[in-house]
Amino acid sequence: MTTLINPSTGAELDHSPASASLEDTDAAIARAHDAFPAWRDVAPGERARLLRAFAAVVDAHLEELAQLEVLNAGHTIGNARWEAGNVRDCLNYYSAAPERLFGRQIPVPGGTDVTFHEPLGVVGIIVPWNFPMPIAAWGFAPALAAGNTVVLKPAELTPLTAMRIGELALEAGLPEGVLTIVPGKGSVVGERFVTHPLVRKVCFTGSTTVGKQIMAGCADQVKRVTLELGGKSSNIVFTDTDVAAAAASAPYAVFDNAGQDCCARSRILVQRSAYDEFVGRLETSVKALRVIDPSDDRSEMGPLVSAGQRESVQAHLDGASIAFTGSAPDGPGWWLPPTVVESRDTSESIWREEVFGPVVAVMAFDDEDEAVALANDTDYGLSGSIFTSDVGRALRVARRVESGNLSVNSHSAVRYWTPFGGFKQSGLGRELGPDAPNAFTEEKNVFIAH
Ligand code: NAD
Repeated sequence: MTTLINPSTGAELDHSPASASLEDTDAAIARAHDAFPAWRDVAPGERARLLRAFAAVVDAHLEELAQLEVLNAGHTIGNARWEAGNVRDCLNYYSAAPERLFGRQIPVPGGTDVTFHEPLGVVGIIVPWNFPMPIAAWGFAPALAAGNTVVLKPAELTPLTAMRIGELALEAGLPEGVLTIVPGKGSVVGERFVTHPLVRKVCFTGSTTVGKQIMAGCADQVKRVTLELGGKSSNIVFTDTDVAAAAASAPYAVFDNAGQDCCARSRILVQRSAYDEFVGRLETSVKALRVIDPSDDRSEMGPLVSAGQRESVQAHLDGASIAFTGSAPDGPGWWLPPTVVESRDTSESIWREEVFGPVVAVMAFDDEDEAVALANDTDYGLSGSIFTSDVGRALRVARRVESGNLSVNSHSAVRYWTPFGGFKQSGLGRELGPDAPNAFTEEKNVFIAH
């Protein structure tokens, strides 16, 4: 059992769930396997109705789920409400999929050829602590819609909302075994999802280091795998943009969720002629950021998730040239102020490594080619932003940056309507968007001779 702690206060929470053992995990996988044939055979319209009922029950418990996340993960209440709403929205969006899981009819000589999307069976979803609710739903909503059953492991630090969502699924009428939450250690529960032959696909979100181990483990059984890993994304600001607007929005693109966001724009590239103005305005907007009790409706940034995460972020700051910081509460809890570093050398670790905390590095560039080269000079490729008023430049740069999710003149969050995933070491495969259910199926081809 991991003792859970409120990150804002350092106080122990009343209840911490027991960690599942290997035997518990095997039993959960066996139940999911047993539940699979009946769930696969539920008529598409009925499976759709059950997912909509699940969405409605989540909606009815939205405030309860949000409050639980504030307590367990230190998320601001505004973010936590959005996150619980995102679970509902993913369920509603993918509730349309069972009735639209179309195959194709392909013209061939001598007969008729049709394709089917067959569900895989049991899908294992491994979730990190930074966005416990949305990342769980991005996996289970399309997986369930496509007719799979799911075992889901929340992160050790943040199991509470996932466990409650598992109860709400039953309340909504999903049969036992269709969605099972298995709290526990990565090295026990998570690894068992990888090694157990009845788990047919693993969806992993977490660090690149663990993701590589998962990929290697899945290779042994040629197990399907989706990886959503780390990032070191760039916010590229050209002189021809509204510099004031770019500087006002930049803190939210990196300090949201206290920077514990794989999509954090943790590097800001600013065209040299706008650099001084941008940094000056950035200081004003960072100092104005409300880093206060996350249960306060006005809070814009809460604490880090754990003492360990705060230490890890502080270690990244050792020796870095800090330009300025915002504020943070004194006293108990895992608080750190939003911190801005000016980088002059791309070999600095603060420029290269994913910090996963409220730290951003700023650097000047001269022209478009240099901006693209700097943005691409990383092993990662998850997200990024481009600020310019030149639409041609926006499209040129967007096409050249090696990253899965880019936004122009905005820092768009992950949207469930559109595909999400990384280039290079940020991941493998895509989640969300209209095609996500297909990623939880095998395409089967059937030829019928005339
Ligand atoms: P982590 O890799 O340590 O853990 C992620 C999950 O994997 C947890 O549930 C953990 O228990 C489990 N796990 C750990 N070791 C395992 C093993 N050997 N086998 C199976 N499962 C195992 O990552 P974290 O510290 O929880 O999360 C932070 C990282 O996640 C950051 O690097 C961040 O960039 C990344 N992340 C990526 C995305 C994305 O969508 N790309 C989203 C959120 C977080």
